[in-house]
Amino acid sequence: MAGEKIKTLTNLGHESGVSAYASRHDKTVVIDRERDSEDVLWHELGHHIEFSNPHLLDRAKIFLKMKAADRATYFNNGGKGNPEYIVRTGMSNSYISDIYMSRGLDQRTGKIEPTKPSISGCLSTELFSIGLQLYKNPHYAVTSLLNDDGRFTLKSIELSLKNMAEDLMLLRLVPRLGS
Ligand SMILES: [Zn+2]
Repeated sequence: MAGEKIKTLTNLGHESGVSAYASRHDKTVVIDRERDSEDVLWHELGHHIEFSNPHLLDRAKIFLKMKAADRATYFNNGGKGNPEYIVRTGMSNSYISDIYMSRGLDQRTGKIEPTKPSISGCLSTELFSIGLQLYKNPHYAVTSLLNDDGRFTLKSIELSLKNMAEDLMLLRLVPRLGS
């Protein structure tokens, strides 16, 4: 892999009383100043690595298809109006195979609804985020290894990080991590 960049990220927020998130639109990662530890920051960075590199999203889709075997099935882990779709894969934590769909006008209901779940059509995944988080969270890492989730994320991240080291430096992430 070559040429990975993090062009979707320009701001890092360290706020109080927030749920950590990554926003493609605002080019932001925000984590909670008091509650979130370093692994949460890496998780949210993982989202931008995927947002910025469509070929990595493609890899994630290939991996999810492989884990889902012959026929992908999904379940909704969110609410009715705000679904959160998960591909059934048998990985150690179902959150790993979470996929995010676009929203669009539903002709039948006239409401803006998320489109039906599909691996091919999803906009983003949790794979790179959780892959990165594994480095900083031994509990997740051990559970994932014991369950044989696959080496996809760790290997991909390692290669990507080498290419993105410069971007990470520019964002001054490295010195911040220890604080
Ligand atoms: Zn996430």
